[in-house]
Amino acid sequence: MSALPSAEWQNPSCGACHGDVEHDGDSFVCADCKLTFDSHDLTAERIDEDEPVCGRPCDSSWHAVHAIVPGGGFQCGACPLTAAHTSPHYTSCLPVPVPIPA
Ligand SMILES: [Zn+2]
Ligand SMILES: [Zn+2]
Ligand SMILES: [Zn+2]
Repeated sequence: MSALPSAEWQNPSCGACHGDVEHDGDSFVCADCKLTFDSHDLTAERIDEDEPVCGRPCDSSWHAVHAIVPGGGFQCGACPLTAAHTSPHYTSCLPVPVPIPA
């Protein structure tokens, strides 16, 4: 009978593309998003801060329709990744609650 297997730690996934990250011995790296993540607190930094930022705005037509609701809908963001990223654009769109009429 074999010994029971231990649980295995899994690397965290990238906060932008949710893909697997690699540990480079120092921090976690997402090659697709050109991001590194601190091994302790997982905060992200661009691998190359000198590269231009993608800046692509959200192109969700569903968001655009809902953004015109007064005081509600979506607050759409622009992609903050390095322009060379090969992952899907990351737009941190935040839902804005529609106020309930009094
Ligand atoms: Zn990623
Ligand atoms: Zn959006
Ligand atoms: Zn982008």
